[in-house]
Amino acid sequence: MGKFITWVACGLLALAPVAGGILLDRLVGTSVLFTLIACLLAALYLLGTFVPTAPLFGRTTRVRNTPGRFALTFDDGPAPRFTPAISRLLAERGHRATFFVLGTHANEYPHLLRQVLEDGHEIANHGFDHHLLAFSPPSSVRAQLLATEQAIATAAGRPPVRLFRAPHGVRSPWLDHTLGRLGYRVCSWNGHIVDTAKPGVATIVERACRHLRPGATLLLHDGDGSARGGDRRQTVHALHAILDEAERRGLRSVSLSSLVEPPLRGPSGARAAPVSCGAAVEALPVLELERHGPRGETGLARVGHPLENGDGEPLAGEEEEAQAQPD
Ligand SMILES: [Zn+2]
Repeated sequence: MGKFITWVACGLLALAPVAGGILLDRLVGTSVLFTLIACLLAALYLLGTFVPTAPLFGRTTRVRNTPGRFALTFDDGPAPRFTPAISRLLAERGHRATFFVLGTHANEYPHLLRQVLEDGHEIANHGFDHHLLAFSPPSSVRAQLLATEQAIATAAGRPPVRLFRAPHGVRSPWLDHTLGRLGYRVCSWNGHIVDTAKPGVATIVERACRHLRPGATLLLHDGDGSARGGDRRQTVHALHAILDEAERRGLRSVSLSSLVEPPLRGPSGARAAPVSCGAAVEALPVLELERHGPRGETGLARVGHPLENGDGEPLAGEEEEAQAQPD
């Protein structure tokens, strides 16, 4: 389901109870009682779905307010035109970032993920093909995460940290629970830089610096989730000035996993012991990817996962409190 179709479907779903409320008011003879109740329910549904920081469908992961530390995050990569420049610039200036990558891009550009890790950054999960998850059943959510996990591990030699950012921050009532059973936490961000709209370098810098403070999570993009090859030159240029201002304020960007509260744990958590390349890949879920056409039409089918028993139930889940969301 495409982005705009999802938005329209969510709107229609919210309008349905309102229409029912109006009808019920007429049938029962009440003035607007049921209409108001229906409007409230519709508003709560839309808030929980589209507002990443709204705790209605689960809270996003807490980030510690650590003096002198903040988190730069980049979504939708890796992308050959921009990811290397961003990764190298950050490394040269002693900053670290978290790259929320798409599984399909990890498959296309595995060498870029290796470079990101060599530069000292971390890789997290943004889903396989940027599919919006508002109506995805738990089985589809799991397939998206596990296919991406496998793509990253195959490309980079290790699985991602167990942080997930939903495409466009769109959630469903069951998303957090499904992610928690896989040991993932949902991550959000501060403010709306929206560098994908290419508002100009100065605007990107101004918006980023408006939220630049200890414990902040800034969201930028090194790739394009729509597969239209988005131009991120403004983001790359703005990054220089953003780092200048961060350093002037005594701030340094660190991995997001080092700031989340409680700390990550487990095989790919921030405090986990290093995992050898071969062992990590062997421990990955076995997935079958069924391609039915262009990238956006990729079908995912999960076959098995090492964290589950033979019945498909998780052996150990970190049902951690989650909070978060973006593009
Ligand atoms: Zn995205």
